[in-house]
Amino acid sequence: MSGKKKKGEAGETNDYCFRRTPVSGTSVRTPLFIGIDLGGTKILTAVADPTGNLVSRDQSVTPASGGPESVIAAIVESVGRSLNQAGITIAEVTAVGVAAPGPSDSVTGILHTPPNLPGWHEVPLRDIIQAKLGKATFLINDAQAAALGELTFGAGRGARNFVYITLSTGIGGGIIIDGKLYRGARGFAGEVGHMTIDDRGPLCHCGNTGCLEVLASGSALAREARRLIQEEGAASLLDYAGGDITEVTAETIHLAAINGDSVAQELIARAAYYIGVGLGSLINLFNPELIVIGGGLANMGDILLKPAFEVAAARAFRHSYRAVRFARAALGHNSGVLGATVFARQEAAKGDTRH
Ligand SMILES: [Zn+2]
Repeated sequence: MSGKKKKGEAGETNDYCFRRTPVSGTSVRTPLFIGIDLGGTKILTAVADPTGNLVSRDQSVTPASGGPESVIAAIVESVGRSLNQAGITIAEVTAVGVAAPGPSDSVTGILHTPPNLPGWHEVPLRDIIQAKLGKATFLINDAQAAALGELTFGAGRGARNFVYITLSTGIGGGIIIDGKLYRGARGFAGEVGHMTIDDRGPLCHCGNTGCLEVLASGSALAREARRLIQEEGAASLLDYAGGDITEVTAETIHLAAINGDSVAQELIARAAYYIGVGLGSLINLFNPELIVIGGGLANMGDILLKPAFEVAAARAFRHSYRAVRFARAALGHNSGVLGATVFARQEAAKGDTRH
């Protein structure tokens, strides 16, 4: 879901609503689970109990340029630090959940060519981590994990039918139906960023054209801004990027927009339109009671979301639109890692009933 992030880009700044004390351990309940949230720029690992209490948490930089071997070694080291911080050994952990970017096959445990991890192609990540840690391990797409985190501990608590959408460097999602994460036949469901919005639109890294992600993500905003600067002399977009085109990000575009730059406002309005088109389709497809919006771009607030909701209202069935409420994601950077522990717990319980 998330692409390569640059310093200061919107995807890195969603620290809002950090409701949970990162490290507590005061009222820890067993069993314990390890969550791993692998991203293109950072690795987050944690030990958590079934109530979402984070016993420990470790964050490190993803050595992405080193390829799978370096990244997997860094994951294992981070898990070691999380275990140390929690004062436990791997033997005291019930299962491990790995949230990874890109399509993850739930049957084979293979991670398929994530766009923000160079050199990764069909990596059997679940089995590798399981062998290295010696503990039952389960693989899930990172946006699905975040949806599961929000369902269990965040903005989706108590909701039976909702759609989670993360607007970040990329765009991802997760679908909750009847109180459960809908994963599809092989675990690939919920790729809301790759809904076709404009079939004649630009080429997406997935191979399709005009996906929501290629039109309205943080990367799409930055790319379009750079194009306007280079091809149409929109120099004002450089004002909040220190005059350096490589520093133009969704965040600098947002700053320009709230300070009255009309080109930046137009860029955000266009992204909002496309997001609204996508939301309208999601509302018609799923008739959700709730749409939870996460990711750094959501921090733009009304300037992006209000027009998006208006477009969705104009396009969705009226009764479906009236039934939906919108909420911001509540778990911030911890949604994926917490969701990974929930997934590990659910999958481990399935295994227990089979034996
Ligand atoms: Zn796509």
